[in-house]
Amino acid sequence: RAKADGRGTYRFFETGMDARAQARRLLEMDLRAALQRDEFEVHYQPIRDVASDRVVAFEALLRWNHPQRGLISPVNFIPLAEETGLIIQLGEFVLRGACADAATWPDDIDVAVNLSPVQFKSPNLIASVTAALAASGLSARRLELEITESVLLQNSEATLTTLHELRAMGVRISLDDFGTGYSSLSYLRSFPFDKIKIDRSFVSELATREDSMAIIRAVTSLGRSLGIVTTAEGVENDAQLELLRREGCTQAQGYLFSKPRPASGVALMLERPRLRATA
Ligand code: C2E
Ligand code: MG
Ligand code: MG
Ligand code: MG
Repeated sequence: RAKADGRGTYRFFETGMDARAQARRLLEMDLRAALQRDEFEVHYQPIRDVASDRVVAFEALLRWNHPQRGLISPVNFIPLAEETGLIIQLGEFVLRGACADAATWPDDIDVAVNLSPVQFKSPNLIASVTAALAASGLSARRLELEITESVLLQNSEATLTTLHELRAMGVRISLDDFGTGYSSLSYLRSFPFDKIKIDRSFVSELATREDSMAIIRAVTSLGRSLGIVTTAEGVENDAQLELLRREGCTQAQGYLFSKPRPASGVALMLERPRLRATA
């Protein structure tokens, strides 16, 4: 345990731990304190139907509002939260918050919540989804859960059972970041996903790389044949949107429409079709 050296600093920097381990330990302490201090908030980014141009859902994205460091992106703390198990508490916070917020939105607007593989494997998942829906009064049909293919890597019975249980509750399941991992087509056969989210990396190179275009075309066409909605992530300009429209991609999400904003910004994002400026 670190000891104060009298000048208000801590001595564990001298104990031989390497710099990375020290930074990690500090971040972990900070994360635990942040949960106590209520420094986390859920932001929302609109997802639009490409054909009608209407907002159909919002994706809930976790933010850490750090008193000194400002808003911190989840990519900087989720891996550690997963290693330490804190992701379970954080995940419940997002799920409850997102369901409660969505219950105040118009009935035809859904909410998408990201699930960590750690959270997905937790024996409490079904109970916590059930509790979040019950507490908010949100219909299960308005909740989409986003998982990445790493959840499916083991392709265990337990994974499929959980997916089917969620589906039986009426919740929809999206496959997030499609195209970045192993992207085995057998995943699409092992479970009937409701939605495929095409990773931002393919969208950002749409206009400049023909292979990205070909991949998008293949995925949207696959989605159409399988009856799965396709959502393009990270749409930043009209040229990309036009190409996606031409390929029949179902939905689009990205800075072109809006950056993620706090719950208080949802009404404005519904009102104005495009809200590019940062919050
Ligand atoms: P994701 O689920 O793929 O979410 C999309 C990410 O792309 C978000 O980053 C979003 O802000 C960003 N994005 C959206 N449109 C654009 C665009 O046009 N251009 C660019 N450059 N970026 C765009 P964010 O919020 O930093 O989240 C990063 C990742 O962290 C998420 O990727 C997701 O994997 C994870 N994450 C976020 N919130 C949660 C959460 O509540 N629980 C879990 N387990 N993971 C979360
Ligand atoms: Mg996501
Ligand atoms: Mg994604
Ligand atoms: Mg992504």
